[in-house]
Amino acid sequence: MADTEGAMKCFLEGYRLILEGIGKLGYNIRDENFIDTARRASKALAQMTLCSKDCDAEVAQMLSRTFPAKYEEMVISKHNVSFGICPHHLLPVIYRISVAYIPQKQVLGISKLSRLAALLARRPILQEDLTHELARLLHEKLESKGAAAYVEGLHMCMAARGAQAHEARVVTSAVRGAFLDQPATRQEFLELVTATPLNLL
Ligand SMILES: [Zn+2]
Repeated sequence: MADTEGAMKCFLEGYRLILEGIGKLGYNIRDENFIDTARRASKALAQMTLCSKDCDAEVAQMLSRTFPAKYEEMVISKHNVSFGICPHHLLPVIYRISVAYIPQKQVLGISKLSRLAALLARRPILQEDLTHELARLLHEKLESKGAAAYVEGLHMCMAARGAQAHEARVVTSAVRGAFLDQPATRQEFLELVTATPLNLL
Protein backbone atom coordinates (compact mmCIF):
# COMPACT_ATOMS: atom_id res chain seq x y z
CA MET A 1 0.00 0.00 0.00
CA ALA A 2 1.54 3.31 -1.07
CA ASP A 3 1.74 6.01 1.58
CA THR A 4 2.99 9.28 0.07
CA GLU A 5 2.60 11.25 3.29
CA GLY A 6 4.46 8.63 5.30
CA ALA A 7 7.25 8.66 2.72
CA MET A 8 7.64 12.45 3.00
CA LYS A 9 7.85 12.21 6.79
CA CYS A 10 10.65 9.62 6.49
CA PHE A 11 12.48 11.69 3.88
CA LEU A 12 12.35 14.75 6.17
CA GLU A 13 13.59 12.81 9.17
CA GLY A 14 16.38 11.30 7.08
CA TYR A 15 17.55 14.59 5.62
CA ARG A 16 17.53 16.20 9.08
CA LEU A 17 19.91 13.47 10.22
CA ILE A 18 22.08 13.89 7.12
CA LEU A 19 22.34 17.60 7.91
CA GLU A 20 23.33 16.76 11.47
CA GLY A 21 26.09 14.58 10.00
CA ILE A 22 27.22 17.42 7.76
CA GLY A 23 27.35 19.61 10.88
CA LYS A 24 29.66 17.06 12.51
CA LEU A 25 32.06 17.56 9.60
CA GLY A 26 32.51 21.14 10.74
CA TYR A 27 29.97 22.92 8.54
CA ASN A 28 27.65 25.50 10.00
CA ILE A 29 24.25 23.96 9.38
CA ARG A 30 22.63 26.91 11.19
CA ASP A 31 23.65 29.01 8.18
CA GLU A 32 20.69 30.50 6.33
CA ASN A 33 21.31 28.33 3.29
CA PHE A 34 20.58 25.19 5.30
CA ILE A 35 17.47 26.41 7.07
CA ASP A 36 14.91 24.84 4.77
CA THR A 37 17.20 22.27 3.16
CA ALA A 38 15.62 19.13 4.68
CA ARG A 39 12.23 20.11 3.30
CA ARG A 40 13.60 21.10 -0.11
CA ALA A 41 15.68 17.93 -0.41
CA SER A 42 12.70 15.78 0.58
CA LYS A 43 10.55 17.42 -2.05
CA ALA A 44 13.24 16.91 -4.68
CA LEU A 45 13.60 13.24 -3.75
CA ALA A 46 9.83 12.80 -3.92
CA GLN A 47 9.84 14.26 -7.43
CA MET A 48 12.51 11.79 -8.49
CA THR A 49 10.74 8.86 -6.85
CA LEU A 50 7.15 8.61 -8.03
CA CYS A 51 4.71 6.62 -5.94
CA SER A 52 4.82 3.19 -7.58
CA LYS A 53 1.03 2.78 -7.46
CA ASP A 54 0.38 6.14 -9.15
CA CYS A 55 3.06 5.37 -11.71
CA ASP A 56 1.57 1.95 -12.57
CA ALA A 57 -1.92 3.43 -12.83
CA GLU A 58 -0.82 6.23 -15.16
CA VAL A 59 1.17 3.84 -17.35
CA ALA A 60 -1.77 1.44 -17.62
CA GLN A 61 -4.15 4.24 -18.52
CA MET A 62 -1.73 5.68 -21.07
CA LEU A 63 -1.16 2.38 -22.82
CA SER A 64 -4.87 1.59 -22.96
CA ARG A 65 -5.64 4.69 -25.07
CA THR A 66 -4.64 3.84 -28.62
CA PHE A 67 -5.75 4.92 -32.08
CA PRO A 68 -6.51 2.75 -35.10
CA ALA A 69 -3.92 3.09 -37.88
CA LYS A 70 -2.92 1.43 -41.12
CA TYR A 71 0.74 2.22 -40.46
CA GLU A 72 2.69 -0.92 -39.71
CA GLU A 73 6.27 0.35 -39.79
CA MET A 74 8.61 1.33 -37.01
CA VAL A 75 7.57 4.22 -34.76
CA ILE A 76 10.48 5.76 -32.86
CA SER A 77 10.62 8.36 -30.13
CA LYS A 78 14.25 9.17 -29.61
CA HIS A 79 16.52 11.05 -27.22
CA ASN A 80 13.96 11.68 -24.50
CA VAL A 81 15.91 13.18 -21.61
CA SER A 82 14.51 11.86 -18.34
CA PHE A 83 15.64 11.79 -14.74
CA GLY A 84 15.67 9.22 -11.97
CA ILE A 85 17.77 7.89 -9.13
CA CYS A 86 19.76 4.67 -8.90
CA PRO A 87 18.73 2.15 -6.26
CA HIS A 88 22.34 1.52 -5.21
CA HIS A 89 23.31 5.06 -4.18
CA LEU A 90 20.06 7.05 -4.44
CA LEU A 91 21.98 9.51 -6.61
CA PRO A 92 20.51 11.11 -9.74
CA VAL A 93 20.75 9.55 -13.17
CA ILE A 94 20.22 11.54 -16.36
CA TYR A 95 18.83 9.26 -19.02
CA ARG A 96 18.51 9.68 -22.73
CA ILE A 97 15.85 7.20 -23.72
CA SER A 98 14.89 6.03 -27.19
CA VAL A 99 12.02 3.64 -27.71
CA ALA A 100 10.41 2.07 -30.74
CA TYR A 101 7.62 -0.29 -31.64
CA ILE A 102 6.04 -1.72 -34.76
CA PRO A 103 2.27 -1.32 -34.47
CA GLN A 104 -0.32 -3.87 -35.31
CA LYS A 105 -3.56 -2.01 -36.18
CA GLN A 106 -3.25 0.35 -33.18
CA VAL A 107 -0.84 3.18 -32.42
CA LEU A 108 -0.12 5.20 -29.34
CA GLY A 109 -0.29 9.03 -29.35
CA ILE A 110 3.30 10.03 -30.13
CA SER A 111 3.77 12.26 -27.05
CA LYS A 112 2.83 9.25 -24.92
CA LEU A 113 6.14 7.58 -25.71
CA SER A 114 8.04 10.51 -24.17
CA ARG A 115 5.69 10.58 -21.22
CA LEU A 116 6.14 6.84 -20.71
CA ALA A 117 9.93 7.21 -20.69
CA ALA A 118 9.78 10.12 -18.23
CA LEU A 119 7.37 8.31 -15.89
CA LEU A 120 9.21 5.01 -15.78
CA ALA A 121 12.57 6.73 -15.24
CA ARG A 122 11.37 8.55 -12.11
CA ARG A 123 11.78 5.57 -9.89
CA PRO A 124 14.61 4.06 -7.85
CA ILE A 125 15.22 1.41 -10.49
CA LEU A 126 18.23 -0.14 -12.22
CA GLN A 127 18.84 1.17 -15.73
CA GLU A 128 18.88 -2.44 -16.94
CA ASP A 129 15.39 -3.05 -15.54
CA LEU A 130 14.07 0.27 -16.86
CA THR A 131 15.23 -0.68 -20.35
CA HIS A 132 13.70 -4.14 -20.12
CA GLU A 133 10.39 -2.75 -18.85
CA LEU A 134 10.06 -0.15 -21.60
CA ALA A 135 10.47 -2.80 -24.30
CA ARG A 136 8.18 -5.26 -22.54
CA LEU A 137 5.34 -2.77 -22.05
CA LEU A 138 5.48 -1.53 -25.64
CA HIS A 139 5.40 -5.09 -26.87
CA GLU A 140 2.86 -6.69 -24.57
CA LYS A 141 0.45 -3.87 -23.72
CA LEU A 142 0.26 -2.49 -27.25
CA GLU A 143 0.17 -5.99 -28.75
CA SER A 144 2.76 -4.67 -31.18
CA LYS A 145 4.77 -6.73 -33.65
CA GLY A 146 7.87 -5.81 -31.72
CA ALA A 147 9.42 -3.20 -29.47
CA ALA A 148 12.85 -1.89 -28.54
CA ALA A 149 14.44 0.42 -26.00
CA TYR A 150 17.89 2.02 -26.04
CA VAL A 151 18.95 3.89 -22.94
CA GLU A 152 22.05 5.94 -22.19
CA GLY A 153 22.52 6.89 -18.55
CA LEU A 154 24.83 9.41 -16.97
CA HIS A 155 25.03 8.15 -13.39
CA MET A 156 26.06 10.64 -10.74
CA CYS A 157 27.31 7.73 -8.64
CA MET A 158 29.89 7.15 -11.40
CA ALA A 159 30.44 10.74 -12.51
CA ALA A 160 30.71 12.49 -9.14
CA ARG A 161 32.41 9.95 -6.88
CA GLY A 162 35.88 8.48 -7.00
CA ALA A 163 35.29 6.25 -10.04
CA GLN A 164 37.07 8.70 -12.36
CA ALA A 165 34.30 8.15 -14.87
CA HIS A 166 33.03 11.71 -15.23
CA GLU A 167 31.92 11.25 -18.79
CA ALA A 168 31.12 7.56 -18.82
CA ARG A 169 27.62 6.63 -19.94
CA VAL A 170 25.98 3.32 -19.27
CA VAL A 171 24.30 1.99 -22.38
CA THR A 172 21.58 -0.65 -22.29
CA SER A 173 19.21 -1.96 -24.92
CA ALA A 174 16.34 -4.41 -25.02
CA VAL A 175 14.46 -5.87 -27.98
CA ARG A 176 11.25 -7.84 -28.33
CA GLY A 177 9.34 -9.54 -31.14
CA ALA A 178 10.35 -8.44 -34.66
CA PHE A 179 13.36 -6.54 -33.29
CA LEU A 180 14.59 -9.79 -31.80
CA ASP A 181 13.74 -12.04 -34.74
CA GLN A 182 14.94 -9.77 -37.54
CA PRO A 183 18.53 -8.52 -37.20
CA ALA A 184 17.93 -5.91 -39.94
CA THR A 185 15.09 -4.33 -37.94
CA ARG A 186 17.21 -4.23 -34.82
CA GLN A 187 20.09 -2.73 -36.81
CA GLU A 188 17.86 -0.05 -38.33
CA PHE A 189 16.66 0.95 -34.87
CA LEU A 190 20.16 1.11 -33.41
CA GLU A 191 21.47 3.14 -36.33
CA LEU A 192 18.62 5.63 -36.05
CA VAL A 193 18.96 6.18 -32.30
CA THR A 194 22.76 6.37 -32.24
CA ALA A 195 23.04 8.62 -35.31
CA THR A 196 23.92 11.74 -33.30
CA PRO A 197 26.68 11.91 -30.69
CA LEU A 198 25.85 11.80 -27.00
CA ASN A 199 25.38 15.17 -25.39
CA LEU A 200 23.51 14.79 -22.15
CA LEU A 201 24.71 17.89 -20.38
ZN1 LIG B 1 24.47 4.15 -8.37
